[in-house]
Amino acid sequence: MSFITPSAQLTTDITIHDKSFTNEHNVPKEFAIMAAHWSMQYSGNPPRIGKLSTTTLIGPLRKAIYAVQNLVVEPSDVANLLASAKGTIMHEGMTQALRAHNSGYICEQRLEREFVGWKVSGEFDILTPDKQIKDLKFVSNYNLKKLAEDREKLQAEWDMHEMYENVPTYFKYVAQLSIYRTLLNDPEVKPYGSILFSLNNGSDMGKYTIDSEVTFPLFLNEEVESFITERINIIQAHLDAGTMPLCSDSERGYNAPEYKLERYYPNSSSTRTVPGSKFSNEADFRAFIMAKGKLGDSEVIKEAKYNLCNYCNFSSICDQM
Ligand code: SF4
Repeated sequence: MSFITPSAQLTTDITIHDKSFTNEHNVPKEFAIMAAHWSMQYSGNPPRIGKLSTTTLIGPLRKAIYAVQNLVVEPSDVANLLASAKGTIMHEGMTQALRAHNSGYICEQRLEREFVGWKVSGEFDILTPDKQIKDLKFVSNYNLKKLAEDREKLQAEWDMHEMYENVPTYFKYVAQLSIYRTLLNDPEVKPYGSILFSLNNGSDMGKYTIDSEVTFPLFLNEEVESFITERINIIQAHLDAGTMPLCSDSERGYNAPEYKLERYYPNSSSTRTVPGSKFSNEADFRAFIMAKGKLGDSEVIKEAKYNLCNYCNFSSICDQM
């Protein structure tokens, strides 16, 4: 039985089981309830000192330290929870279907192993009858675009740390599957795993397949074990010293600023970007204007952005923002 009451401050805010959620974007009430409800259905315990989840471990260390310190963050807004709520519902549906129609599958099994005194937990979505790990992701087509870009850049000789920094989208999928395999610790589990992608925002005019499977070679267990140990040691050292690591540009989803000049071309009666005028730094842009700008040109400037900070649960308390 659930207890849903309107909040005192904003009629659109909701409280479920004493936890408050804001609804600043006026998500329809039923979707808002759905988002709040499913956001509370996490089967594991939240991170704390001595315990980390796989997803926390493969993200920025600064976020991991905020998470284990259990700092109070502002109430979540239902608009930010809706996509993951839909993903959770899809996971539930997949698990029910596989369990009902193919008993050889193992679904949503929670795993835990200890590394240097810390418990690391994870829950894979699917282990197929022939022991391949598969994880279901309900994502935007932007993720598939970033994954394709990363696969272009990928160098065979890179280790986990180099992949983390240089190809973060590719890394997060391979690392998650690899950690599950290491936690399972079963030599019969395949050395490759898959992500089953389902797009939540369409195919972008047929550019992407709505439901697809991408298979990745997994990291060796020894490499995963040393990656986990190193990250825990860094987290512990920061906790002992009372310090915080900084998130890198890649962890913050840095998008460089863009400067360009636009000009009206009377022959074609159109306004277009002046050829060669696009720059990612202001000094070069100003030099271009001095050399080739004309009266009447207009400057179009897009500020630098840290896209992932906008989606970070700790943005309201993070002093690196
Ligand atoms: S808000 Fe940005 S800088 Fe701060 S922890 Fe989150 S991702 Fe890192």
